[in-house]
Amino acid sequence: MAAIRRLGGHSTADQIYEAVKHSYPRVSLGTIYRNLRVLCDRGQIREVKSGANFSRFELAGPRHYHLICRVCGDIEDSAFPVDGSLDEKVQATTSFKVEHHRLDFIGLCSRCQTQTHDRTHAEAHTEVSTAEAFVGTSGD
Ligand SMILES: [Zn+2]
Ligand SMILES: [Zn+2]
Repeated sequence: MAAIRRLGGHSTADQIYEAVKHSYPRVSLGTIYRNLRVLCDRGQIREVKSGANFSRFELAGPRHYHLICRVCGDIEDSAFPVDGSLDEKVQATTSFKVEHHRLDFIGLCSRCQTQTHDRTHAEAHTEVSTAEAFVGTSGD
């Protein structure tokens, strides 16, 4: 927990492991994963899928949309406000009980944009995004 807060933003399990190892040299990566899982289940942290082959974790706070770089997997928080009315609109179309939604915007981070000058301009433009399921939990 403290390690995630200290790292700030969206950390991978590896980064959290490295940070925790400073204080607890005997901790294993498996333990880190288990603890992350427990914290997720308790709702204290959130897992953020970056589309890359690893997940990142952030402290559970106000919901926000994510900007995900498809090249380096970097995740930024979007300042765009979460649209709660979407839940109701989707709810109106289904018997599924919508509780909240997630939305990721996929594209290139500022760093990767400058590194891909050889690509066409159009390609560097933010790709369409939408997606990610509507997740419903039974709310223990
Ligand atoms: Zn990037
Ligand atoms: Zn975030």
